[in-house]
Amino acid sequence: MKKFLDENFLLQSATAQKLYHDYAKEMPIIDYHCHLPPDQIAADMNFNNITHAWLYGDHYKWRAMRANGVNERFITGNASDEEKFQKWAETVPYTLRNPLYHWTHLELQRYFGIDAILTGDNWKEIYDETSAKLQTKEFSIQSLIKRMNVKVICTTDDPIDNLEHHQKIAKDGAVAKIAPAFRPDKAMHADDVPALNIYIDKVAAVSGIEVNSFEDYLNALKNRHDYFAANGCQVSDHGLEQIYAEDYTDAEIGTIFKKIRANEAITYSELLKFKSAMLYQFAIWDHEKGWVQQYHLGALRNNNARALSNLGPDTGWDSIGDFSQGVTLSKFLNRLDSTDQLTKTILYNLNPRDNELMATMIGNFNDGSVAGKIQFGSGWWFLDQKDGMTKQLNTLSNMGLVSQMVGMLTDSRSFLSFPRHEYFRRILCNLFGDDIENGELPNDIEWVGKIIQDISYNNAQKYFNW
Ligand SMILES: [Zn+2]
Repeated sequence: MKKFLDENFLLQSATAQKLYHDYAKEMPIIDYHCHLPPDQIAADMNFNNITHAWLYGDHYKWRAMRANGVNERFITGNASDEEKFQKWAETVPYTLRNPLYHWTHLELQRYFGIDAILTGDNWKEIYDETSAKLQTKEFSIQSLIKRMNVKVICTTDDPIDNLEHHQKIAKDGAVAKIAPAFRPDKAMHADDVPALNIYIDKVAAVSGIEVNSFEDYLNALKNRHDYFAANGCQVSDHGLEQIYAEDYTDAEIGTIFKKIRANEAITYSELLKFKSAMLYQFAIWDHEKGWVQQYHLGALRNNNARALSNLGPDTGWDSIGDFSQGVTLSKFLNRLDSTDQLTKTILYNLNPRDNELMATMIGNFNDGSVAGKIQFGSGWWFLDQKDGMTKQLNTLSNMGLVSQMVGMLTDSRSFLSFPRHEYFRRILCNLFGDDIENGELPNDIEWVGKIIQDISYNNAQKYFNW
């Protein structure tokens, strides 16, 4: 029987072990999409305790606690940090076979050198030991980043953000390159016209451009896009149910925008046209600047109205949706490609039924200008686990070139999540190791090892051009 979570965790053959330990392990990390708060990086703050680091913002853990019958008071409520950690520790033994079980123990090992299994019996010792460490200089946020050999982090930022924390990081210097990402979801969210109007006013204020027409709005947003570029941004990111690619005319969008500004209701058809126009425009700017654009497609958000009104969005009430992806995605990419204005693009699907769709869609728009120009992104959110990542890697291998993949990203809100890159690399090495052991790949460790290193780091380094 193999030992739990030892040095050869997930590495089931001698070849897989060699690939991981000799090639993958030491490669630096590029985390090109996450939700880490730049203010905390700029301040290089310390967490008071492990609850603060683990449980304040991680809705993956919150969902597990709720599923385990824990009262909300101990999750997002007013229980003490110690009480919350105790409830999490009592939940952990029940998370077995969920990635949280592996992540939790990997993080205890990698950051704190703790090999114990976290339970309701030893929670206090682990709380005290980790919290004491987290308060030291060696465990400040930038020290945590450095400890994991992270070279680049891309945060996720709203166009109206003034990027002051990124500016402070740039001025003070940091242990890694910390760059913003342009995420304009709210700028096109005409599903809620009054909220969009408030947002448009904010864009106008921050850009200093009065917005009386759609053209003004685009000018104001372009001003923010330029501002982001001036502050080191090289990627955009979009979280959408699906790509919108309706036909529209400029006159139509002008009329729809006037209705929005008058706080009038718009029809569903008008909503789709408006979103289509916005998405297209963002993509044109991304191409002009040579940015990488990312599309996270397929989440069905805010399913629980009672929880949403009590706790707000991003608190653990989202799931995989069953939106149609293929036709509009094809039309959108084709429209950009037809004028040679399609920039480097990463597509992420949340519904695993779309794996093959994504893996084959990317092949339609690779034009030889750059290797892996259109990417099928790594298993994301609910698919960010052994089975989901394995399926993504196998689908990409079968229908595209896994050798040109830009690898893993955490998409995390926690500074203790970087071992997910290790998790991905172990799975990757195990797949290639199996193929060599089975005679399906030649026993050329040097070549396969190079490919492993490319997927782990080199491809992303080249692709994003940092
Ligand atoms: Zn994300």
